[in-house]
Amino acid sequence: MRVVVTGGAGFVGSHLCEALMARGDEVICVDNLCTGDITNLAALRGQPGFTFVQADVSSGLDVQGPVDAVAHLASPASPADYLSLPLQTLAVGSRGTEYALELARRHGARFVLASTSEVYGDPLAHPQDEEYWGHVNPVGPRSVYDEAKRYAEAVTVAYARHHGVNTGIVRIFNTYGPRLRPHDGRVVSTFIRQALAGEPLTIYGDGTQTRSFCYVDDLVRGIVAMLDCREPGPVNLGNPDERTVLELAELVLRITGSDSGLRRRPLPADDPVRRCPVVTRALQRLEWKPRIDIEDGLRTTVSWFKASAPKPVLAAAEAR
Ligand code: NAD
Ligand code: UDP
Repeated sequence: MRVVVTGGAGFVGSHLCEALMARGDEVICVDNLCTGDITNLAALRGQPGFTFVQADVSSGLDVQGPVDAVAHLASPASPADYLSLPLQTLAVGSRGTEYALELARRHGARFVLASTSEVYGDPLAHPQDEEYWGHVNPVGPRSVYDEAKRYAEAVTVAYARHHGVNTGIVRIFNTYGPRLRPHDGRVVSTFIRQALAGEPLTIYGDGTQTRSFCYVDDLVRGIVAMLDCREPGPVNLGNPDERTVLELAELVLRITGSDSGLRRRPLPADDPVRRCPVVTRALQRLEWKPRIDIEDGLRTTVSWFKASAPKPVLAAAEAR
């Protein structure tokens, strides 16, 4: 297949580009690098069949030659990122999604939207299956992301109904792994960075809020399965192993062997209290379920953080 991956220089997108290239697809990665990093694509650049285009998909999206599939991942995803890029986040969820859908329509291509568990907001139903309509504050700080993704889902199903585009929606739950930016503000990257630096781990609120963490390789396998079929979704992709933030902190401290303490910080506005996916639909329709348990996934992630950490100036000088 010839696949366009928007947001392909980001955390999830770069792993997706690698997975597609590894099985012989051609990949055109379109990214404006607002939260992505070109070094995420270091292993792919220069490989035959891989093209990187630096562009803002909210301003238009055109690709020369045939297109078999469009994976639309472009969007800031970390709360710290989308709160600092509120209008860009709304733009890419709305106009960016429309341009990506238009590209798929022009080429008769499969289209897959990377949506989010945030469409469920601070959920009143627990765990969350795809039938749940969500509980989102439309004027809260997180609305720039949540409502952009809800609109993205709405325009995606409208293109399927009115233009006959072959669309699919995946709702991604918290995902972690190598290439998370150490300073992106997300909980896994923050805790690992703090633990390795011997700094206290910042617990927002009392730390009893929960998330369910999926390793990136599992997620990417699910996105590829969605690209390869005609399933419209929405389909939850996540790991139902639900943990409190305090449990995650203890796990990171144990795995890193760090003696960092904990430091309380105020809970951000509208921070969801509980989040856990029902993944029955993914199993039934995509034959997908997560395989990597959180301890193994965190160990791999910690190793990557250690290997990719900038070397202290002194150590670098000694090495010479
Ligand atoms: P990320 O910030 O690492 O990657 C997003 C990429 O999109 C970046 O490379 C960024 O530069 C690019 N981008 C943003 N706006 C763009 C624009 N206007 N034009 C072109 N490129 C643009 O985030 P991620 O964690 O890799 O998330 C990827 C996708 O998955 C996002 O759509 C996100 O909403 C979704 N998602 C991720 C998670 C998760 O836990 N990682 C959870 C739910 C949903
Ligand atoms: N969190 C925390 N300390 C941090 C960063 C995040 O306690 O340094 C909490 C945050 O309040 C939320 C959870 O961890 O309850 C997950 O936050 P993240 O930003 O990773 O993702 P979210 O699911 O909120 O989008």
